[in-house]
Amino acid sequence: MSSERVNLLGLPRAQLETFVATRLGAKPFRARQLMKWMYRRGAADFSSMTDLKQEFRTQLGEIAEITVPQIVTEQVSKDGTRKWMLRMDEVQGIETVYIPEPDRGTLCISSQVGCAMDCSFCATAQQGFNRNLTAAEIVGQVWLAQRELTESQPAASEGRRSITNIVFMGMGEPLANYRNVLPAMQIFMDDLGYDLSRRRVTLSTSGLVPQIYKLAQECNVALAVSLHAPNDELRNDLVPINRKHPIAELLEACWHYIDKQNGRSITFEYVMLDGVNDKPEHARQLARLMQGHPAKLNLIPFNVFPGTHYRRSPAATILKFRDILNEYGVIATTRRTRGDDIEAACGQLAGRVTDRTVVRLGTRLSTVSRSAVEIQ
Ligand code: SAH
Repeated sequence: MSSERVNLLGLPRAQLETFVATRLGAKPFRARQLMKWMYRRGAADFSSMTDLKQEFRTQLGEIAEITVPQIVTEQVSKDGTRKWMLRMDEVQGIETVYIPEPDRGTLCISSQVGCAMDCSFCATAQQGFNRNLTAAEIVGQVWLAQRELTESQPAASEGRRSITNIVFMGMGEPLANYRNVLPAMQIFMDDLGYDLSRRRVTLSTSGLVPQIYKLAQECNVALAVSLHAPNDELRNDLVPINRKHPIAELLEACWHYIDKQNGRSITFEYVMLDGVNDKPEHARQLARLMQGHPAKLNLIPFNVFPGTHYRRSPAATILKFRDILNEYGVIATTRRTRGDDIEAACGQLAGRVTDRTVVRLGTRLSTVSRSAVEIQ
């Protein structure tokens, strides 16, 4: 019964306006009222929307719903980071992480159940890929986090917002789920949605080049790119999509994105793996790729997870790596590890995933129909 109803949570403003017009013969401002209830006030029940006519609310309830995933577990780290596991169906679960800092609150959301990119140093990759999240499931993560944070910190919620930034750095490759990620980002940036500026919504990608060009046409969020290696030989191993879109092609797309969006810069993520990609020569190669471009390097100390053979680079190695980049005039910062005691840190999100991919990128790339995993 409820599956026939439309979940309003995933509809950007224009689509919601069309929905109320065509299905209920209502004016566009009704859609705007609905958005305020859903996103500003966190309402999920039409009967609570008191400035909508009773008749409209009843009709709405017959054809629409506001449904969010169910929370299975919540864990709170000693540093205040919170991780929720959300139920996607009987078996599958995804994870969403909230990272509080003195001047902001970042919500790290997932875009897929699992991931097919098969990066060798990432826990999510080990789970395999099950399916894309819908736009409603993506937006639902923010809706839920906002509700939970408001309930646990009522005083803070009065003055300032608890979620000031949203990053697609949870489970999944967001550009492989482009058609659901785009409407979700529109809702994040809409002033009747979560009202975040474009700089406060970050999409992180392993490097799906055609979709970076597409994104440049249609959206202007901040872009982060998981580079992790300064040459193709090494990157082919760490980030297998590189075999299809090598570094030169990827960087060209990145510089195009910045030109087109009049953006400030791109953040390149670089996970520091002991003895693998952390040598001074790697730093120099990397600096040469970045020099003169609007780029920032974000060095991420590797986070271990069960079954990995990688180790984190020692702190002194990371510092030296950063210094070399700085000597070349390249801005580099080190990401502080958060929430690793509850396995909420970068690359530790595993959720619960039943792998449905026949072959994944890293294992047998030459025989894969790559488009099958790339655009869904
Ligand atoms: N698929 C997207 C977003 C998810 S990962 C992407 O690849 O960008 C978010 C960031 O965490 C990426 O830069 C990813 O490479 C990094 N990461 C993955 N595993 C990690 C690990 N074990 N330790 C530290 N960072 C990791």
